[in-house]
Amino acid sequence: MATPLPDTHALAIPSPPAQAPGLAPWRIALRLALRCLRPTPRETRSTAPASTLGGAASIVLPIMTAYLPLLLATFAIDGLIMGFFVWAFHSKALGKYRIMDERPMKVAKKTQILVMGFNLVFSVGVTFGTLYLLADRLMTTVETPVWLIALQAVGVLVVYDFIYYGAHRLMHNKKLMRYVHGVHHRARYPSALESLYLSPIETFVGLALLVIATLMIGPVHVYALAAAFFVYSTMNIMVHSGLLFPNPLMKPFNALAKKHFHHHWDHFDKNFSSLTPLPDLLFRSAF
Ligand SMILES: [Zn+2]
Ligand SMILES: [Zn+2]
Repeated sequence: MATPLPDTHALAIPSPPAQAPGLAPWRIALRLALRCLRPTPRETRSTAPASTLGGAASIVLPIMTAYLPLLLATFAIDGLIMGFFVWAFHSKALGKYRIMDERPMKVAKKTQILVMGFNLVFSVGVTFGTLYLLADRLMTTVETPVWLIALQAVGVLVVYDFIYYGAHRLMHNKKLMRYVHGVHHRARYPSALESLYLSPIETFVGLALLVIATLMIGPVHVYALAAAFFVYSTMNIMVHSGLLFPNPLMKPFNALAKKHFHHHWDHFDKNFSSLTPLPDLLFRSAF
């Protein structure tokens, strides 16, 4: 007599319910925190109306129209700030506020001008290129409360400060120091001008990290990114000023300038962050 076949339905083991890819609790918390800073669902080119060119342009154009004047104003103000600090550093009247006596870089003037000039043009090019490619992914013109714009700007800067801290520490690795970051450290006692004395790779990495920080939170309001970019670029000049001003209002900037001076002069293994002392304090690399 033939053995009856087993009832496949009776033996079937129910498959476990589909699960979302496992995420560590801290990553879920971070994602939720970053998402809170988004005011509205993302506007992207893919959600644009069918008339492709018109759709994309209708999203990107208002963003560019609002952002470009602010970006150009930032470049102009930073140019004036840079000019003032360089003049103050070398002047008789304000030279007394230098952290220490001048120690010119041991690099030919021609090379210095070439490197700084290239970095200036390159960073402006990368900034405009990024805007052209990612404007609608980075920014929105959707009406946003002022407090949220401020929170977005602070959020971008805090995230940037921490990821830059990690990247800067990594750049102190022997090989990266030799081929990339060592260029910047040729300036043992920098002035504001030497904030531009970098390997172009480092210039690109700095800007890319700001873009990554914005993408992690954003799209943020146009004013939030404009404010974050202003702080990012201005602080980069100020921490290299090599000056300590007696005005009490300048105290926080003096502290950051001194901190970065030590990173260049005698404590290469300390003070890696660029905007706040927070990452250095947290990871015990503050001097
Ligand atoms: Zn360094
Ligand atoms: Zn520096």
